[in-house]
Amino acid sequence: MNLFPTALIVLGLALTVSFASREEFYQVIDSHLHLGQELGPDVETTFKSGRLWIVRLRENSPLHLTGSFRRLRGGEKSYRFLDRLRGTFGRRAPLIRTTLAGIQRARIQNDVELLSAFETRRAGTAGNRSAIALVAERLRSLGFELSLSCYAPEVCNVIAERRGLAEPSAVTVVMAHLDSVGETHAGADDNASGVAALLEIGRVMADVPLRKTLRLVVTNGEEDGLLGSVFYAKELERQETLGAIGLLVNMDMIGYNQNGILELETSAEREGLARWMAQLVHQYTSLTAKVSIGAWGSDHVPFLRRGVPAVLTIQNWDTKNPCYHEACDTPEKLNYSYITEVARLNTAAVLTKDLE
Ligand SMILES: [Zn+2]
Repeated sequence: MNLFPTALIVLGLALTVSFASREEFYQVIDSHLHLGQELGPDVETTFKSGRLWIVRLRENSPLHLTGSFRRLRGGEKSYRFLDRLRGTFGRRAPLIRTTLAGIQRARIQNDVELLSAFETRRAGTAGNRSAIALVAERLRSLGFELSLSCYAPEVCNVIAERRGLAEPSAVTVVMAHLDSVGETHAGADDNASGVAALLEIGRVMADVPLRKTLRLVVTNGEEDGLLGSVFYAKELERQETLGAIGLLVNMDMIGYNQNGILELETSAEREGLARWMAQLVHQYTSLTAKVSIGAWGSDHVPFLRRGVPAVLTIQNWDTKNPCYHEACDTPEKLNYSYITEVARLNTAAVLTKDLE
């Protein structure tokens, strides 16, 4: 029981960065460069913390023309919430707390192992199709209404939905990509971790009465250039239903961590959403939130670009998995308590949003 009647959020602005003269600064948005590929003499790092990496490019460098760098638009920054939130729990707190108590670490671990046992889950392979079928069947058995959104023959996103009871036209989305990199391994952290958390969220939500529609989206082809999420975002755009999404949380690489820091990444326009999520991190989990403004490199991006309030939950990038995109991205290296905490966070986010 918390004795403090009013919410008191102390923002520890441990790290804040913004630039007055923006013209010459760029954000690195290429995962190969984040993997440690050499930058070359034209590039000077001016700031690097977590997911946010800012560089200065030499004038007239041909690198300006590559897709690896994005000119800063001014909102980019990175900061950590240092203090725990003290506050009252919302009127739905008992329901949130009981639902969170149902989340089982052992089930998450089991699913990570199951999904990592494929030879690969790369889009277009037999392993990918089997994994998609497995996930679809699981969500169907939980009572979700299933549909597929396929951007190529037999390369599909899985869409699982439970209609809201009071406000069915308002939608909350939980998202994770199922495909993996390479032909010889099926990434445990990237991204069996996100899919396993999504399945567990689906399981504990299966019997919770929800006012709004809950949609679980398992995307495909993320590693090939966000193919599935771009396709799906365009599909909703055509149907003019993107505006129905009041919250989209994406889980990508939530399995490798020792420092307890979770990054919440979004665009400058959605900083308020990241702060709201940070409060939930401290209210409902043992993790520390780190906000990163400047979204890149995962399935939240095509939705943010189209005006959807979206946020990525991802491991602290300063201490990211050394096996990122490598065959050694295997289940025994993961921190299952961390994945469980992220699943708790995103369950709390869905339930809190549901009452707004
Ligand atoms: Zn990924």
